[in-house]
Amino acid sequence: MVTRILVTGGSRGIGRAVVDRLSEDGHQVVNFDLQPPEQMACDEQYLCVDVSDEAALRHALDDALKSGPITRLVNNAGIVRPQSLNRVSTDDLRAVMDVNLAASVVCAQALLPGMMAAGDGRIVNISSRAALGKTERIAYASSKAALHGFTKALALEVGAHGITVNAVGPGPIATELFTKVNPPRSPATERIMQAIPLRRMGLPSEVAHMVASLLDTRAGFVTGQVIYVCGGMTVGLAS
Ligand code: NAD
Repeated sequence: MVTRILVTGGSRGIGRAVVDRLSEDGHQVVNFDLQPPEQMACDEQYLCVDVSDEAALRHALDDALKSGPITRLVNNAGIVRPQSLNRVSTDDLRAVMDVNLAASVVCAQALLPGMMAAGDGRIVNISSRAALGKTERIAYASSKAALHGFTKALALEVGAHGITVNAVGPGPIATELFTKVNPPRSPATERIMQAIPLRRMGLPSEVAHMVASLLDTRAGFVTGQVIYVCGGMTVGLAS
């Protein structure tokens, strides 16, 4: 069945792989991003929007909904401001929270009435293993842990309407965001590589596969969960 799906940050990296995968699966994707993708997918609708600008985001959501309900949502757009506590500013905190958490809440608010009317809906929030704790990530880790709380609270609120809400936490995935804050061959990046049980970086398409599975109608009994796509990195952390 063809479904309309909103993906935020769908022009690059993991979001792009999600758009491509969903499009290959025959769905219509609406992509909200600051920049257009290099190549548009089949049936993709691209809207230029900064999801941290609440008024612009609400306007874009109204626009997208004019063409009909959107019963699938992937809150993927995310930013990192790598800082430890002594250097992080409240501006950093607000900027990261606005993109990583507030935009996800606003998108869900706008799409939920249509999902409720349809008695069917799927929301997937893209989190991070950093939610479990990561050095130099005060704002980022806090925002992703908050996204877990949002995922679980909303799952309880909307479950009776046939709507599921889950989070996918990628481990190290080779994208622009990752390499910007983890330069190749730096000692910290080498340590990350050694800590991955599968001994390789993940692919954006591997995250997209988990997202597509959770969006599927047949995944209707999974809700309020955080699923890590991390090469096993979140297992046995204490050792
Ligand atoms: P990326 O930087 O490669 O791509 C992010 C996309 O989001 C870009 O297209 C960018 O233009 C868009 N975007 C950023 N801010 C935006 C805004 N304000 N409004 C609209 N669009 C915006 O990042 P990525 O690595 O693909 O990460 C995607 C998601 O996965 C993020 O939520 C990130 O936190 C999460 N994640 C990534 C990794 C990784 O290793 N790459 C690991 C864990 C979690």
